[in-house]
Amino acid sequence: MKIKKRIISKQEHSVSRDAISDNALKVLYRLKDAGYQAYLVGGGVRDLLLGKKPKDFDVATDAHPDEVKGLFRNCRLIGRRFRLAHILYGRDVIEVATFRGPHEGESTIRADQNKDGRIIRDNVFGSLEEDALRRDFSINALYYNIRDDSIVDFTGGMDDLKYKTIRMIGDADTRYREDPVRMLRAVRFAAKLNFQMEHHTNNLIFEMGGLLEDIPVARLFDETIKMFQGGYGLKCFQLLREYRLFELLFPMTEASIKLNQEGNSGTLQLIEQALRNTDTRIASGKSVNPAFFLAVLLWHPLHEYKNRFIELGQHEMEALLSASREVITRQQAHTSIPKRLSLMMKEIWHMQLQLQHPTRKRALRTLENKRFRAGYDFLLLRNDVGEPELTSLCEWWTEIQTKSLSEQEAMCESLGRTQKKSGKRRKRRRKKPVNSYAAHSDDCQQ
Ligand code: ATP
Ligand code: MG
Repeated sequence: MKIKKRIISKQEHSVSRDAISDNALKVLYRLKDAGYQAYLVGGGVRDLLLGKKPKDFDVATDAHPDEVKGLFRNCRLIGRRFRLAHILYGRDVIEVATFRGPHEGESTIRADQNKDGRIIRDNVFGSLEEDALRRDFSINALYYNIRDDSIVDFTGGMDDLKYKTIRMIGDADTRYREDPVRMLRAVRFAAKLNFQMEHHTNNLIFEMGGLLEDIPVARLFDETIKMFQGGYGLKCFQLLREYRLFELLFPMTEASIKLNQEGNSGTLQLIEQALRNTDTRIASGKSVNPAFFLAVLLWHPLHEYKNRFIELGQHEMEALLSASREVITRQQAHTSIPKRLSLMMKEIWHMQLQLQHPTRKRALRTLENKRFRAGYDFLLLRNDVGEPELTSLCEWWTEIQTKSLSEQEAMCESLGRTQKKSGKRRKRRRKKPVNSYAAHSDDCQQ
């Protein structure tokens, strides 16, 4: 790769100190005043140049991690693969990375690669220029210098920003091999910024996607969350499918989409609608729950497994419980799912049965369940995309939330009366499920 260093002076670019967070500035000033080089780099500079609000600020310096620690009381050193300093200001974290160099040559700490060329340790320190070449895309390798407010560009990042291009630095084949997660990052930035990928950066993804299978599932989970909960989830999902990466991350979901395309039972519609809602919520500053979206992604695979368990003789609730365990275990071979989230997913799924079969005795307890809101939103979403026979149930659950306690009790009573008429028949058909389900739902609430 031809390297041409370009310095863009303060007057020639649009980044102003006012747009940089106070905490990031504090870190930059302290490093500079201690005699080190200090640059803002990565998404912070890229997004400011694009007139967007950065998600976070990353700093690059020639100070080694221990030297950074010596300068800040609120500093924690983290990471094995990349040793980094985190400077903590309450919940705000400024990440400070020491310039990285190439793997060859002299170094105090070695960088290791596995047989596929994947970097498993990368703690070789280097110069500013070497650091730029170790970064993923040219638009992520622009350095804002706190000394004179200039921007340093070694890789043509300024032009790529101008022409809306995502370009891998160096040889794309080697760089994807070093870290296959860069494929997911390329897709994420294409979605987030609405940029096109440069030819090689683009084409190699189709050939090399399979390398993602060797990446630790916890890292793939983190990337998944960034892609779907970053405010541009729908676009990311569509691109991931185009690049045939989605099927590597969520093979059961992709199989359901394909299966259902003929029967048109709505897997794709459900996922896309959920992502549309998530993107809208994020745009209006509302919080989003990753368990909700994961529950959406695996909803149809869950049903396919549930039906299999029913065929094996289990009754509906039992089959749902077996299927939830099965689907989550299988998914965890591709992306991990933290226990806290998998519990929530199960609660959302199980609550669908309670919401679909409200009874005089149980409806008020369902309403008080701490997962009611998520379960109810899930039911509305299913109804929105046209799952049959849910509209009047949705109306009933919507109405009951607007009532006083005595009115709610009356609504439940009238439910009891209508159910009594058909009660005997139902009792004979399902011996235990109602009670065993009620017991289970108590477990969920703990
Ligand atoms: P955002 O924070 O908006 O998601 P970002 O570009 O800041 O985007 P981070 O994950 O915060 O992304 O990483 C910060 C910077 O570190 C990147 O801009 C890039 O220069 C570098 N970087 C991150 N991950 C990799 C990687 N896998 N390979 C090479 N460089 C990377
Ligand atoms: Mg960042």
